[in-house]
Amino acid sequence: MNCVFCKIRDREISKDFLYEDKDVMVFPDINPLKPVHILVVPKIHMKDFLEFSDKNLFLKVKTAIDKVIKSQKLNNKGYRVSVNGGGAQIVDHLHFHITGPIERSMEV
Ligand code: AMP
Ligand code: ZN
Repeated sequence: MNCVFCKIRDREISKDFLYEDKDVMVFPDINPLKPVHILVVPKIHMKDFLEFSDKNLFLKVKTAIDKVIKSQKLNNKGYRVSVNGGGAQIVDHLHFHITGPIERSMEV
């Protein structure tokens, strides 16, 4: 499978991880849209959010996202956790974007 995030997981593409365990990897987005732009990626290949049903893994991803928000000191600066899916995504391997700082706004 020609999946860039599977290749990162399998060390076919080298990447400095901010955090990694057996289920989750965390690394900076290669094309940051905000001063902080970090990806939290479950290691198992799921093509989009609707395939994500493992409750334990969900909690592990949530824990990793919490760590990113706190370690990047975004908790009081505004942050966004976002997932593109259903064809809006570029990489067909489920991942969560954490971006910030972000001003309060109705924009999405
Ligand atoms: P999307 O699938 O649209 O939610 O976003 C995919 C994201 O992956 C984009 O923000 C890309 O900049 C990012 N990306 C693609 N390749 C890499 C890579 N090798 N390392 C880090 N981030 C990447
Ligand atoms: Zn993959």
